[in-house]
Amino acid sequence: MKSVHEPMIAAADTWRARDLAVLWHPCTQMREHPGALPLFPVARGEGAWLVGMDGRRVLDGVSSWWTNLHGHAEPRIADAIGRQAHRLEQVILAGFSHAPAVELAERLLAVAPREAGRAPLAKVFYADNGSSGVEVALKMAFHWFYNRGEHRRTRFIALTGSYHGETLGALSVGDIPLYRRVYAPLLLEALFAPSPDAFGAPDAAAAEACAHAAADALAAMLEAHPGEVCALILEPLLQCAGGMRMHHPAYLRRVRDLCDAHGVLLIADEIAVGFGRTGTLFACEQAPGGGIQPDLLCLSKGLTGGFLPLCAVLATQAIYDGFLDDSRERAFLHSHSYSGNPLACAAALASLDILQQDDVLARNRDTAAKMAARAAGFVDHPAVAEVRQTGMVVAIELHPDTASAEDGHAVEIAGRRGLRMYRAALDAGALLRPLGDVLYWMPPYCIDDAQLDVLATATAAALEEALPCA
Ligand code: PMP
Repeated sequence: MKSVHEPMIAAADTWRARDLAVLWHPCTQMREHPGALPLFPVARGEGAWLVGMDGRRVLDGVSSWWTNLHGHAEPRIADAIGRQAHRLEQVILAGFSHAPAVELAERLLAVAPREAGRAPLAKVFYADNGSSGVEVALKMAFHWFYNRGEHRRTRFIALTGSYHGETLGALSVGDIPLYRRVYAPLLLEALFAPSPDAFGAPDAAAAEACAHAAADALAAMLEAHPGEVCALILEPLLQCAGGMRMHHPAYLRRVRDLCDAHGVLLIADEIAVGFGRTGTLFACEQAPGGGIQPDLLCLSKGLTGGFLPLCAVLATQAIYDGFLDDSRERAFLHSHSYSGNPLACAAALASLDILQQDDVLARNRDTAAKMAARAAGFVDHPAVAEVRQTGMVVAIELHPDTASAEDGHAVEIAGRRGLRMYRAALDAGALLRPLGDVLYWMPPYCIDDAQLDVLATATAAALEEALPCA
């Protein structure tokens, strides 16, 4: 007798063939399709679930590249986009204005990280994806000094293990060889300060010592390049694409102070870690002394709840004022056609409403504790070197896989072991994309107890693949 699923399986196969006939997928060696990496055609999303065209349900353990906050197809965000689409779908943002762009800027500035005694972030510039937002921040920093006559400040400092996007400027401040090596001749020459990464640190005191050692090295770098650096860019608390490497918040305080002492602007890239991912609304808030405030703050991914591409770059009044002049060349002439798109802004406003109305941060604290309890079961697994957590992110770092190592840096599902783990997790009902040697959980915030169990079961299945004789 024919299974009821057979027509769906056939339909999924048809879609796979149609897809591979025309699509070139991101971050993929297309040769791995269809054999090593079977495509998963998705029919719809339902909360934390992705439902395949063949009827299979998999839990989105990576929030679809860290974008989704409240679950897929969240009705309140979907409705907000629908209402906005019937009113105004898109309009040029130069010379024209619209309510969602203004309201979103007001609300972002109201919740942005603040530091006592420092003038708050005061202006919002919109780009339409994370990499573009990083370009905006880098160009703004350089141009601000240029307008002040400080033409020698042409360099950026980034951290080792950093990732800030794929466009050439963003790639220049990234330190993942597989992504940057080929393009190196095209890139800006950034300075890379050692990451405060606390990998292997046995306790908080040791992690704090890593932070201070890295800050001391940064101080020496700044002293060696007086008047040359316009900005330092970092991902506060958690380097995501760099392998979910975590650092002690003391580093952020030291960096803020060092940037001030050397007149260097601080760019916080909270594209992946913002909007509650690390436990607070923004990661910068966790720095000692009540948090730090960057000079430029990049927000994207979860900004729209994961519905539409948008980036907001928040800047201080002082930076904004540095561009006011009679000359157009001193203005920030950067633009993107979809800057401040009304649909994306409406989605972001609805997502902010949900964060507040549903008291999502409080629920996340509870969920994070449940994630910790489940992850604790993997600490003694023979393949596991370290289990660590920051808020709603759990990372399970494996002993290095010498057979498929990529310069010791995390690369998504690199090598055979990564692929085997990815497939094993998928077969067990969860989408987990290892970053090199790091298996991680970064689920939508709406995940419930039963779904957390699916994550744990899928992780156990993936880890079976990591055992030496597997
Ligand atoms: N910065 C960080 C920290 C990121 O994680 C990413 C995306 N993974 C980006 C920037 C780039 O964003 P996008 O993919 O939207 O260009």
